[in-house]
Amino acid sequence: MNIHEYQGKEILKQYGVVVPNGKVAFTVDEAVEAAKTLNSSVYVVKAQIHAGGRGKAGGVKIAKNLDEVRTYAQEILGKVLVTHQTGPEGKEVKRLLIEEGCDIKKEYYVGVVVDRQTGRVVMMASEEGGTEIEEVAERSPEKIIKEVIDPAVGLQPFQARNLAFAINIPKKLVNKAAKFMLSLYAAFVDKDCSIAEINPLVVTGDGNVMALDAKLNFDSNALFRHKDIVELRDLEEEDPKESEASKYELNYIALDGNIGCMVNGAGLAMATMDIIKHYGGDPANFLDVGGGATAERVTAAFKLILSDENVKGIFINIFGGIMKCDVIASGVVEAAKEVKLDRPLVVRLEGTNVELGKQILRESGLNLVAAESMADGAQKIVELVK
Ligand code: ADP
Ligand code: MG
Repeated sequence: MNIHEYQGKEILKQYGVVVPNGKVAFTVDEAVEAAKTLNSSVYVVKAQIHAGGRGKAGGVKIAKNLDEVRTYAQEILGKVLVTHQTGPEGKEVKRLLIEEGCDIKKEYYVGVVVDRQTGRVVMMASEEGGTEIEEVAERSPEKIIKEVIDPAVGLQPFQARNLAFAINIPKKLVNKAAKFMLSLYAAFVDKDCSIAEINPLVVTGDGNVMALDAKLNFDSNALFRHKDIVELRDLEEEDPKESEASKYELNYIALDGNIGCMVNGAGLAMATMDIIKHYGGDPANFLDVGGGATAERVTAAFKLILSDENVKGIFINIFGGIMKCDVIASGVVEAAKEVKLDRPLVVRLEGTNVELGKQILRESGLNLVAAESMADGAQKIVELVK
């Protein structure tokens, strides 16, 4: 789960990470009021969307007085920002962060991630701050320094100092930078983050080390123990289909193909997407209805797939182990009738109660194509959406 920059900064502050003073604003007037409460002569007006690259897209503006705050707030609120992370359709700005402008001496990068190769949390730092870390990794990978963290003892102060020295933080500020990193790591672990990225971390003219940007992602599997984080969720920033799916505990990821997939089990769902690709088709989604799906959940899943206008046909591929084929079949029939199914449907059922399932489908009067195997089903649906 993703949150906004201003929310991330609030959390980091609780752990001792230094951030500029700032306030969220939902309207132009609120933006000006927020600026008035700040003890500064320079303000920064920042678009709050769940995507980076806002600076380059015109979503971060420096204002020298309250009039400029008003002008920039008017300009940015309601604007559709297109950054390299939003996709071509962009994201509409509905919130602003108004914060104190800060006298930047130099920008750095610090990020904490879970590294799959080592199976550990890794802190990365670079003196190439402000630019995308992916770009640095490509252009000058030697400029990214890493410390692998032992979960039993956590990030050690010497590791934090190593990183600070290696990225050439001015000597006088190395201890402050190390403290910053230790605080960032504490927040990461405590809040079950999957990513905590500060880009840029800056050294200021008056000798401070601060986070000017903050991107926190949380491990969804741990959200049950962070009610406070769940409250920060901004559904307007998420794909409406994906938030609808999470209501029914369906694992759904929208993709940009035209074959809707309904599958049980993540492994089978992945294999189904592969086989569709193999036969020259393009899946419109990843959807795992789970093991214990009820007819109600199957109905929700079916509606979800059909709400995607790009979907030209649906492939249902179910292996009924825990999940019974007749339950799936009833759900499909119910949903298809409710939404007046107008697109080709290929169904492959196998496993528990398969005969009963097939019978329900046959007797439903629905116009569907039965498949004998996964490969057969994939070929049929690819052919039908052509
Ligand atoms: P994004 O990564 O989405 O472009 P950032 O928050 O990193 O957004 O802001 C982009 C740039 O704007 C930063 O690299 C920094 O140079 C400048 N900036 C951001 N916040 C401030 C601030 N409070 N004071 C001064 N400059 C800032
Ligand atoms: Mg940034």
